[in-house]
Amino acid sequence: MGVFVLGSINLDAVARVDDLPRPGETVAGLSLELFLGGKGANQAVAAARMGAPTRLMGAVGKDDSGASLKGKLAGYGVQVADVAELSGAPTGQAHVWVSNGGENMIVVTGGANMMITPQQVAATALEGQRVLLAQLETPAGAIEALFKAGAAKGGLRVLNAAPALPQGAALFPLTDILILNQTELATYARLDHEPAKLEEVSKAARKLMSRPDQTIIVTLGKTGVAAVRRDEAFLVEGRKVKAVDTVGAGDCFCGALAAGLAANLDLREAVEQANAAAALSVQKPGAAPSMPSKREVEVFLE
Ligand code: ATP
Repeated sequence: MGVFVLGSINLDAVARVDDLPRPGETVAGLSLELFLGGKGANQAVAAARMGAPTRLMGAVGKDDSGASLKGKLAGYGVQVADVAELSGAPTGQAHVWVSNGGENMIVVTGGANMMITPQQVAATALEGQRVLLAQLETPAGAIEALFKAGAAKGGLRVLNAAPALPQGAALFPLTDILILNQTELATYARLDHEPAKLEEVSKAARKLMSRPDQTIIVTLGKTGVAAVRRDEAFLVEGRKVKAVDTVGAGDCFCGALAAGLAANLDLREAVEQANAAAALSVQKPGAAPSMPSKREVEVFLE
């Protein structure tokens, strides 16, 4: 039983500079690296690396980057037949500038990602898809179509409501498992600070529950992960590791959780496994290249 991901696919162009440019200024870059990125792509790679048959639905432009990113995804074992190549828009890109001092500036252009339509989703066969996973880097209307169609086929609807967007909250009633980080929880629950303790996290999460059978999972960085349901709340402690690059940790968690749920693990087991996978991912640079295999996670948990 598989994982079906609806989400973004981006070319991440990361330039290093001594100092970030000011408006109107041109600075020389020290290096430029191109990566596969986008929350949808990253989460699909994480699920596939964790052994789940994983399909990704999305869109790239009919351009060199689109073809190259699809090839990379396939190389990670992600099924890309549902990734459309559109001639009306370029492949999504994230332009990231990182200074020697560690500051960054990022511009994301959604491009083809924003052209996915509810009709494209409705025309897709979802039989056999145990978990339907989406984030908010694709149009909300397409996610709504997926969750409506998928529920009728018995799929578990998992929403990583990131980045925090006003239209995200409208999808919560259609969601079985909602995944947020601390910042997103604070934004959606309209708090003036980020909750950290389990009691505070569960109180804020319960404010967002729109159905009694929902689960809300809150990732807490190195502290670990909280899971909140109507009658219980539990914390899985973060694994003690030496973090070198936390970019993509949240995506790793979401993809690995989906893979665990698709393999019929119960909620706590799936959270523990995904927490371990994410801890492994922060020990390596990059997003997609840092997603661990199922075997690596099993060895880590032994
Ligand atoms: P990002 O935006 O960096 O991808 P995020 O803000 O969406 O991440 P986090 O809550 O920071 O999500 O991290 C997701 C999960 O990754 C955590 O719940 C935890 O399981 C794991 N994790 C993150 N940082 C660390 C760390 N330093 N040590 C161990 N595990 C970590």
